[in-house]
Amino acid sequence: MIQSPVGTPTVTEARDRFGRIISYLRISLTDKCNLRCVYCMPEDMVFQPAQELMQDEELLTLVRVFASLGFWKFRLTGGEPTIRRNIVDIVRNIAQTEGVRSLSMTTNGILLEELANPLAQAGLQRVNVSIDTLDPVRFKRITRWGTLDQVWNGLLASERAGLTPIKLNAVVVRGFNDQDVTELAKLTVDHPWQVRFIEMMPFGDVASFAKEQIVTDAEIQARIAAEFQPLQPVDGAKLDGEARLYTFPDAPGQVGFISSVTIPFCASCNRARLTADGVLRLCLLRDKEINLLQPLRAGASEDELRQMILEAIWWKPWGHGLAEDVIPLSRVMSQIGG
Ligand code: SAM
Ligand code: SF4
Repeated sequence: MIQSPVGTPTVTEARDRFGRIISYLRISLTDKCNLRCVYCMPEDMVFQPAQELMQDEELLTLVRVFASLGFWKFRLTGGEPTIRRNIVDIVRNIAQTEGVRSLSMTTNGILLEELANPLAQAGLQRVNVSIDTLDPVRFKRITRWGTLDQVWNGLLASERAGLTPIKLNAVVVRGFNDQDVTELAKLTVDHPWQVRFIEMMPFGDVASFAKEQIVTDAEIQARIAAEFQPLQPVDGAKLDGEARLYTFPDAPGQVGFISSVTIPFCASCNRARLTADGVLRLCLLRDKEINLLQPLRAGASEDELRQMILEAIWWKPWGHGLAEDVIPLSRVMSQIGG
């Protein structure tokens, strides 16, 4: 049992001062990537030296500590998580950690054709694959590197490997892929997939681009209705995680909207993020961070780390400040772990 940071009764869960129980950790396994998406990082992105990033043992120690605080849901992200050395072993070790009940990954899918099977066998349960367009030329323009075929083959391999239900993430950028939203949404007519549109968020170097080129979810819905047919809300379009879900009549799949900018879901946020350099971030869109890797390397015990995490979570910000033009400037998305 662990003492809460404010002397309130003992707890086995991490709770913030607003009463939210924080039990979902998104871990960035690397800040590096094999693509250079225009909304995520500049093409000449400079990455952190390897020795500044969590080594495998350090990562597993922190996972164990978080799991002992009631964190049960873990998502591996990045940068691109599949390019991390030993990714299959890392997944296996996290999956076997006591308390880990849900383990998924957000990936650009480029390497999934070869990795989907080994990852599933190691204990990965699901994947979210980022795919912003079904047009090969526009795919190249958005991601700068990589090909659509690789992602598509990776998606199919993931489905065969049982990494289901498959979710697809699309960030919509005006002038890049706004004309593709209907074709993406129509994938749900033929596949039992969840296609999710994510409103582009402003970060660091790409902040002004994101603010200028954002396409809101309301606009995407209107476009789909005009070009194909209106979507129907699932369960009153209640939040399912971070997405509001819709469907076409009789379709096996669903269309989700993650409207972080125009309709924030902060009130129900249950997540924290661990960056590849071992820093705990309590809000994707606020720069306040707590370094866990430094104390771990300096010899802090697991109990001491637990206290640091509880204290930090207690002060988790209520929500982001995009409406007041408070923009995270210290890191771009790939460094935080989207
Ligand atoms: N490389 C993996 C991928 O692309 O799926 C995982 C990391 S990526 C940072 C995680 C998610 O963040 C992706 O779905 C990506 O499209 C999304 N993303 C990146 N930059 C974004 C931004 N500025 N606004 C909204 N979503 C963004
Ligand atoms: Fe890489 Fe993912 Fe960022 Fe694209 S969104 S550059 S795939 S980390």
